[in-house]
Amino acid sequence: MTQLVTDIICPFCGTLCDDIEVEVSDDGKKIIKVTNACAIGAEKFLHAQSPDRIVRPRMKQEDGSWKEVTYDEAAKYTAKILCDAKKPLMYGWSSTSCEAQATGHMIAELVGGVVDNTATVCHGPSLIAVHDVGIPSCTLGEVKNRADRVIFWGCNPAHAHPRHMSRYSIFSRGYFTTKGSKSRKIIVVDPRPTDTASVADYHIQIQQGRDYELIDALRVALQEGPLPETVAGVPKEKIYDIARLLKSGRFVTIFFGMGVTHSLGKNHNIDIAIALTSDLNKYTKAAIIPMRGHYNVTGSGQVLGWQFGFPFCVDLSRGFARYNPGESSANDLLMRGEVDANFVIGSDPGSHFPFKSVKVINELPSVCIDPHMTPTVAVSKCHVPVALVGIEVGGSCYRMDNVPIESRKVVDPPAGMLTDGEFLELVLTEVQRIKGVAA
Ligand code: SF4
Repeated sequence: MTQLVTDIICPFCGTLCDDIEVEVSDDGKKIIKVTNACAIGAEKFLHAQSPDRIVRPRMKQEDGSWKEVTYDEAAKYTAKILCDAKKPLMYGWSSTSCEAQATGHMIAELVGGVVDNTATVCHGPSLIAVHDVGIPSCTLGEVKNRADRVIFWGCNPAHAHPRHMSRYSIFSRGYFTTKGSKSRKIIVVDPRPTDTASVADYHIQIQQGRDYELIDALRVALQEGPLPETVAGVPKEKIYDIARLLKSGRFVTIFFGMGVTHSLGKNHNIDIAIALTSDLNKYTKAAIIPMRGHYNVTGSGQVLGWQFGFPFCVDLSRGFARYNPGESSANDLLMRGEVDANFVIGSDPGSHFPFKSVKVINELPSVCIDPHMTPTVAVSKCHVPVALVGIEVGGSCYRMDNVPIESRKVVDPPAGMLTDGEFLELVLTEVQRIKGVAA
C-alpha cells in the first residue's frame, strides 16, 4: 500500500513549484515516485533515499579519517569554535528554512560573527541595486495571468529553473493570457544560443559584457532617440523594433540572471535595468524579477533584513550590524584571511568559491551542516548531517518573487537524525551557556 502526498513544495530552485505529488510507502518512510517535478527537482526528493547517506555527525581525525560523534558533541564543538573565534564566518543559509536561519542569526549575534548567504556569489549585485534605486516588481502569478512581453536577460531557465517557463512565463495560460505562449512575445538577450533562446520569438545575441550599453540604448529607443549603427553588437533597427514591441505590450516582465549580475558593470547593470523598467511604465505596465537560484536564498535575505536591516554580508563582530559587500562578504574575508572559524549551512562554497578561499576553510576550525557529502564537507573538521528541509521537515521559505510559502514534510528522516533547526537550537543553548547569557 502507498499514500499520495499532494501540493508539496519542491525545495530545489527559486521557482518553488507548489504542485509536486509524491507517492510514499504506507509507513511514511520511503519515497516511491515523484510527479510534476522537473528532473533536478525529482532527483532532490529521490536522493533522500540514497542507501549511502551519512546519518550521524562526524569529526575529522588527524589522519583525515572520520570518527562518528553524537549531535551533542558536534553542537559543543560548533559552539566552542564559534565562541573561541574573534570573527567567525557563518555562511550559506540558502537551502534551509527561515526558522533555522533566524536561530542561526541569534547564534551569530552572540558570537560576533559575519553572516553571509549565497547571494554574495549570485544576486548580491541585484540587492545592492535595489538599495540604490528601488525595484518595480510583481509576483509570478501576475506574470502568468498578465505578462504579454517577457524578456529573459542573461539567464537560461530551460536549464536552471526548468518549470519556470511552463508554470509562469512562457507556456502557462492565465486570466488575460488564455493562449499561453501565443499570448506572449518572448525576447532572450544572451551572447550564446541557449535552449531558452530556441523557444523565444527574438534572440538578441549581445556581445559579452556589454549589457549596460544595450539597456541604455533601449531606454533611448523607447523615446525614438538617436542611436549609433550598432550597440553591443546589435543593429540599431533591431533595438528600435524591440523598444516598439515592448511599448505595444500590456504587461512587460524582465527576468534577469547571473549573466547580468556577474558581467562587467555588475550592480550598475541592474540599476539601469530597473531604470528601463521604470521608463517602460510611462508607456505600459512593467516589472522586473531576479531569477534567484537556491530555493530559499530569497528567504535568507528577508530574515536577515528583519533581524539586522541588511540582506547579506552582515558583520556583527563589533556588536552591531555593519554591511559592506566587498569588505564583509564571505569570499573576500576568506581570501584576506580575516576570519578565524568557518561555519557553513545549506550551501557548498567548496564547489563554488575560488581555490584560495577553499584552502583557507581547510585550515580553519570548521563545521559544515549538510545532509550530503560535499566538497565543503571534505575540507571541514566537523560534518553534521541533518534532515532535508522541504522533504523530511517543513518550514517557511520565499519564492524568487518574495512570496512566502510554507513547505511540508513528506517522509520521516532517518531514525535519530536531527533537523538543522534542532541542531542549531543545541548550539544556541551551548553558546548561551559559554557566554553566560540567559536563554
Ligand atoms: S523548476 Fe525548480 S522548483 Fe520547480 S520542480 Fe524544477 S527544480 Fe523544483
